[in-house]
Amino acid sequence: MDTAQLALIIALLAIVVLVGFVVAGARRRRSAELAPPPAPGVDYAPGVGDDAGEPLDTPRRGVETIDLPDVPLTGAGGPPAEPEVERPESAEGRMVRLRARLARSGSVLGLGLLSLLSRDSIDEDTWEEIEDMLLSADLGVAATTDLVERLRTRVKVEGSRTPEQARAILRDELLTLVDPSMDRTLATARSGDRPAVVLVVGVNGTGKTTTVGKLARVLVAQDKDVVLGAADTFRAAAADQLTTWGDRVGVPTVRGAEGADPASVAFEAVRAGIEDEVDVVIVDTAGRLQTKVGLMDELGKVKRVVEKHGPVDEVLLVLDATTGQNGLTQARVFGEVVDVSGIVLTKLDGTAKGGIVVAVQRDLGVPVKLVGMGEGPDDLAPFDAEAFVDSILSTPDEPA
Ligand code: GDP
Repeated sequence: MDTAQLALIIALLAIVVLVGFVVAGARRRRSAELAPPPAPGVDYAPGVGDDAGEPLDTPRRGVETIDLPDVPLTGAGGPPAEPEVERPESAEGRMVRLRARLARSGSVLGLGLLSLLSRDSIDEDTWEEIEDMLLSADLGVAATTDLVERLRTRVKVEGSRTPEQARAILRDELLTLVDPSMDRTLATARSGDRPAVVLVVGVNGTGKTTTVGKLARVLVAQDKDVVLGAADTFRAAAADQLTTWGDRVGVPTVRGAEGADPASVAFEAVRAGIEDEVDVVIVDTAGRLQTKVGLMDELGKVKRVVEKHGPVDEVLLVLDATTGQNGLTQARVFGEVVDVSGIVLTKLDGTAKGGIVVAVQRDLGVPVKLVGMGEGPDDLAPFDAEAFVDSILSTPDEPA
């Protein structure tokens, strides 16, 4: 082999090696481009340029350790995502919890009264002490006078008492005052082809919007279909707040633009409820009290307009228990404007003055139907006269 042939063979070998490198490089690039995307949910380590402590493409968690939530797939091809809806606490569950809370706040009054009534001889000073205690618990003058009169008679007739007998007398008389015979059922059933319509009224800040939200939860827990109407159109925040309550339990809220006519929003809400064949429409209203005339006009109109669809089944007046006798003055004004059919007493958790239950019922002749015992979403419960009196008389470590 001469030198020229040797040079030719070396050149050919060099070309073969070069072509080999080029082909291998192209394959590497192509396979990188075709690499499958990370499996959904797999959390990949940082890549080139990041401060990677692990090699590229190393999953931090194995596929078997990934918790895939049990929700429908979204995006192309999959059904639309359902918003997450809460399942509210049942009425029974919340009653047990709220009774315990009521017992904590009510027992100060109950224990004080029991200790005075258990004395062997009750002199005039003691009766005065009992009277003061009842007045400071917001029972009101009329109910206090009535109760003390009845207790005096019982004590005179029955003579000396054991603490158990004193307790039985007090329980009887308190129960008479709270009146278990009042009808506290809420009108929340469809009648004919229309839903029950519940109008919620009261001064701003008493807990009206919160009550509408909580009430929607109570009804949803009873498997009822509900529509909310945000007729407090003066505060945009009120409608937002109500919509949030509704969304959480999957209940639609009908609302208007800020400043819209509250009556027309209420009308539309009831119309939506009729069209959707729901069980209950709850309408939240505005409660500005600067002029009685303005309030009359507005609330009166809301009621009249809603009644074009049929009668309003329930008008709930929301009262803040911590405002005591002032709350009663407000309540009277509302009572003059609309026929109130039930009271919702909110913030009972914030006062030891449970006597307001009796005062408001006597004053307005309307039963307390619901009580609010906290800011939590399930802190609203039906009012039960016996449970209420028992919780007032329970000792702190004794179940009501
Ligand atoms: P509205 O202006 O009458 O609609 O009143 P809101 O519903 O906005 O409530 C006013 C405030 O009272 C809010 O901070 C609520 O969380 C609070 N609230 C409502 N009900 C209760 C209750 O039963 N207990 C307590 N502690 N706070 C409550």
